[in-house]
Amino acid sequence: MPLIDPALLRSAPGLAAGRFAIIAVDECDSSSSELLRRAAQGAPTGTVVVADRQTAGRGRRGRSWLSAPAASLTFSLLWRFSGSPAKLSGLSLAVGVALARGLESLGANGISLKWPNDVLLAAAGDFAKLAGILVELATDREGTQAVIGIGVNLQAPGDYLPQPAAGLDQAVTLLPDRHLVLAAILRELARVLEAFAVDGFSGAKMAWQQRHAWQGLAVRLVADDGTAVDGICEGVDDDGALLLATAAGVQRILSGHVSLRRA
Ligand code: ATP
Repeated sequence: MPLIDPALLRSAPGLAAGRFAIIAVDECDSSSSELLRRAAQGAPTGTVVVADRQTAGRGRRGRSWLSAPAASLTFSLLWRFSGSPAKLSGLSLAVGVALARGLESLGANGISLKWPNDVLLAAAGDFAKLAGILVELATDREGTQAVIGIGVNLQAPGDYLPQPAAGLDQAVTLLPDRHLVLAAILRELARVLEAFAVDGFSGAKMAWQQRHAWQGLAVRLVADDGTAVDGICEGVDDDGALLLATAAGVQRILSGHVSLRRA
């Protein structure tokens, strides 16, 4: 029996309207890979695959997402948009806003966002990664399908990860049941994605900036080939591009093929 019971979610406030079709599985390679297969077979927008155990959980650019069933919540949501992928710049940032709002609605404090796709927890003057987001886009006959993969640590993973990691239990006084966590996130995702389909990222920009972990701080932008640019992180624009103040002026970075680190 998977840890998530879809019947319990159907009665959660805000999710009752049949907007989501929730599929819970004990194990799969990755919830996004499973959902991509189902999308290819015509799964409707709003389909959610929740996986207790991922044998090949994915991050960006070939990296792995590592999680243990009881300590985490890993799921993917299918959402279809009209128009081309070019209209969806900033989508992973908007998803971060939804995730932050969902966790805050459960009483979480210190939720912060890092460009382009991480949810961090502010703790002891520093930040640790609380959740990861992976958005994968593909065009179909009607427009663009987004498979939105999300991994949330309910409890902090062990210290086997290369960067500091945190758990939701460190951000709340009492960790809510995983059904309530999933329902809160899905509710906010529906709101944010519906608004995004009309206004793009601009409608979520202010909410993103308010939670921006590294606003005004010195950062280093590292490309896949190892080249780096140093600058001051000035936040994001209406397209979700990072604004980096460098010695050569303000650079606008849209490409996801770079990683942002504290300088
Ligand atoms: P970027 O800044 O380029 O997004 P990233 O290191 O955050 O870099 P992602 O692809 O977003 O990369 O996430 C994958 C990374 O997250 C892994 O390489 C690992 O460092 C880290 N990670 C994997 N599992 C967890 C987890 N359960 N909790 C926190 N961090 C994790």
